[in-house]
Amino acid sequence: MNALVTPTPTVGPPMWLLAEVTYRCPLHCVFCYNPVDFAKTEQELSTDDWLRVLREGRELGAVQCGFSGGEPLLRDDLEILIGEARKLGYYTNLITSGVGLTEARLDAFKAAGLDHIQLSFQDSSKEINDFLTHTRTFDLKQKVGDMLKARGWPMVMNVVIHRLNIEHIGRIIEMADELGAEYLELANAQYYSWALLNRDQLMPTREQLKRAEEVTNEWKAKLADRMRILFVVPDYHEGKPKKCMNGWGNVFLTVTPDGTALPCHTARMLPGLSFPNVREHSLRHVWFESEGFNHYRGTGWMKEPCQSCDDKKKDYGGCRCQAYLLAGDPDAADPVCPKSPHHSEVVAALENAENPARQAQPLIFRDPKESRRLTADTP
Ligand code: SF4
Ligand code: SF4
Repeated sequence: MNALVTPTPTVGPPMWLLAEVTYRCPLHCVFCYNPVDFAKTEQELSTDDWLRVLREGRELGAVQCGFSGGEPLLRDDLEILIGEARKLGYYTNLITSGVGLTEARLDAFKAAGLDHIQLSFQDSSKEINDFLTHTRTFDLKQKVGDMLKARGWPMVMNVVIHRLNIEHIGRIIEMADELGAEYLELANAQYYSWALLNRDQLMPTREQLKRAEEVTNEWKAKLADRMRILFVVPDYHEGKPKKCMNGWGNVFLTVTPDGTALPCHTARMLPGLSFPNVREHSLRHVWFESEGFNHYRGTGWMKEPCQSCDDKKKDYGGCRCQAYLLAGDPDAADPVCPKSPHHSEVVAALENAENPARQAQPLIFRDPKESRRLTADTP
C-alpha cells in the first residue's frame, strides 16, 4: 500500500437529524445563527419531503430529531412532522423562541408525543429582551414557560450570553429558577452569521466573562438540588479550538429549509464544497457518499500546524467555518488556536472588546430586508 494514501475514515450512522424547517422568524436577534443571506432561500421543503427525510434518517440509524429554524412554529405542519418522528422512534426536541405558542398548539404537540422543548430567552429584563429581538415578546415568553410546566414537560431554557446581557447573569439564573427551569444553558455567543456582523458590540471583555463565570458557579452551588446549569465558555477567550459538531459528518446531519443537507448549519458558506439536496438525493447518499460530507472527515485533509499536532484527534483542527471566516482558508487551523498563524485576528477581536469606540457602532438586526441589502452582490 502506498504510505502516502490516507485511509478513508470509517463512518458510523448520524445520531442527530436536525430539521431546520424554516428560516422565517418573527424575531430579529442580533446574534442570529441563520445565514446572513437567508432571505434568498428558495421554496421550503413540503410536508411530504420532510416525512421522507424523517423516514430516511431513521433508516440510517439517527435516534434524535430536533426541529428548529428560524421559528419552527411558523410551519403549520409541525405537529404532523413531530407525530411522524415520534412514531418512527426518534427522541424529539423542539427548539423555539415560544413566539406563536398557544395552549391548543401545545396540546397538539403533547398528543403527537413531543419529548422535549427548549425555550430561548434573551435576557432577564423586558427592556433588553425586547430590544435585542426588536419585538415585544418578554411577557409572552414568561407565559409560555408556565404553559410548558403545566403539561409536564421539563423546563429547558437557553440564553445566548454576550456583552449586552452578561452582567445580568445572576438575575437570568434567578428568573430561570422562578420559572421552574430544570436545565439552563448559558451559551456565550458564537461569532458566525449575524453575530459576526455585530461582533464588536457583542464580545464581552475578559473581566466581564470572569465575573459571569464566578456568579454562575455561586448559583450552581446554590441550586444544585434543582437546576443543572451549563455555562458554555466562548472559544475566542479560551483559546481552545472546539471539536466542531463533534467531528465533521460524525454525529449531526442538518437539513436546511430548502433541502440542502449540511454537516453543520453554517457549512454552506465554505467555498469549493458542494452539498447535496434531499430533493435529489437520499440521506444515505448524503451521509456516506457526498463530497460535502466526506471532505473534512478524519485528519487527512489537514495542513500544518494541525497535521503534526498531538491534539489533532481531539479537536480536528477546530471549526472549518471559523477558519474560513478569520483566515480566509477553510483548510487552515482554527484561528482561536494559539498555534494558528492567524491567531492575531482573534487577539485583535478581544482587544476591540476593551475599546469603547468599537461598541458605539449601530447593531445590525436580523431581518429579510437587511439580509437582501447585505448580500445583494452575491449570487
Ligand atoms: S436566533 Fe432569534 S432571529 Fe434567529 S432564528 Fe432564533 S429566534 Fe429567530
Ligand atoms: S494546531 Fe490544529 S490540531 Fe493542534 S490544537 Fe491547534 S487547531 Fe487543534
